[in-house]
Amino acid sequence: LTLFPQDGRDADVLVKTADLALSWAKQEGAGACVLYRHELHLRAIERNTIERDLRTALAQNQLMLFYQPKVDIESGRVTGAEALIRWWHEDRGFIPPATFIPVAERSGLVVPLTKWVLDEACRQNRVWQDDGLMKIGVAVNVSAIDLRRTDLTDTIANTLIRRGLSPQFLELEVTESMVMEDVDVVIGTLRRLRSLGVGISIDDFGTGYSSLAYLKRFPVKRLKIDRSFVQDVADGRDGNVIPKVIIDLAHALGVKVIAEGVETVEQYEALHALGCDEVQGYFVGRPMPAAEFEVFLRNSPAGGLQGTAIQVSKPAAVKPGRKPGLKDSAA
Ligand code: C2E
Ligand code: MG
Ligand code: MG
Repeated sequence: LTLFPQDGRDADVLVKTADLALSWAKQEGAGACVLYRHELHLRAIERNTIERDLRTALAQNQLMLFYQPKVDIESGRVTGAEALIRWWHEDRGFIPPATFIPVAERSGLVVPLTKWVLDEACRQNRVWQDDGLMKIGVAVNVSAIDLRRTDLTDTIANTLIRRGLSPQFLELEVTESMVMEDVDVVIGTLRRLRSLGVGISIDDFGTGYSSLAYLKRFPVKRLKIDRSFVQDVADGRDGNVIPKVIIDLAHALGVKVIAEGVETVEQYEALHALGCDEVQGYFVGRPMPAAEFEVFLRNSPAGGLQGTAIQVSKPAAVKPGRKPGLKDSAA
């Protein structure tokens, strides 16, 4: 929708403003109705700038990966790492993935971006293995666009061969809403990946619209309980109801369950009592650059492969002297 005369006085201008409203409406999904506002125009400019700069950043290797530990709740051992992309823009500073990933998805840039992330995460994991560290899986987030591409399996197989990484040490994180669209196509892709030996996790579990009938058909290794449910798990009221249902559901399906966004000892202990298998979050370790993650892994129980004491209520990751309030360790 666009309005005469406030949005424009002639047909050309009005067609342009209506077109912009239309493109935002399409992004919002079926049945959306958007009224043109000047802000839409500013947002479109911002999006184009991000797209242009991201293209440059990708070409000039200005992106990097941080790694966040996943920890076994019982033993405190590191079981894996999630690779999270980081972009420091030369003028604008840190730009969060939540800002640029959607732009990358709309522009198709996400395809080369995912290729880079996969390559870098597999390369790094192989380096850690060659350095004699405990072998862990590295998880890469893929987007809905990647999952719909027929060449995703080939890209992954080629990356593993090029980097000399065994498939059991790579995991892909896909969100619930991504797998619920085009279910048959996606199940085919996930099954091919699974038969390659790569693990699949369902990220942000509980926020999408999972059909339980489909869940049974997905070749999934882990469900990741979304942070929004973890936040309330220790509130002493009914905050533990949904985490408990997800944990029991996962176990009934023979799938591991990990809680994301664990920030406090109370949340850790509540999840432990509910039978959750693994945790990820600031409480056990923030996303950190590769070099720092390596130190973390060496210091974690058995991380340097020299079995050390187990600390559950005070994981090794919670080191005094960390700057409070920063999202990432090196930010
Ligand atoms: P996600 O995959 O669910 O990743 C978890 C997010 O929660 C990360 O944010 C992480 O830094 C943050 N986080 C971890 N522990 C805690 C905690 O204890 N408290 C709080 N408040 N937050 C915590 P980040 O790195 O900003 O990434 C946001 C989203 O961007 C990711 O959500 C993922 O969907 C996407 N993303 C990140 N890296 C990539 C990538 O390489 N490729 C793609 N396609 N998407 C990515
Ligand atoms: Mg993830
Ligand atoms: Mg998540």
